[in-house]
Amino acid sequence: MRQPAHCDACRRPLSPGDQIPIVAWLRLDGKARCCGARLRLRLLAVEVLGFALGATGMLGLLLLI
Ligand SMILES: [Zn+2]
Repeated sequence: MRQPAHCDACRRPLSPGDQIPIVAWLRLDGKARCCGARLRLRLLAVEVLGFALGATGMLGLLLLI
């Protein structure tokens, strides 16, 4: 499903700490650590959406138990 995480600009694989785009984005002010390219906001939005869906799913599970 998910592609291995890599930089869109230079195609280098991301380090484990940078696998979560929103974390890297917040920490590095929207720039990739490897090459300084601006991270795409579209990817960030996808990540945020996935996180929100995951959190909602977890909450739903907790409520079911
Ligand atoms: Zn890069």
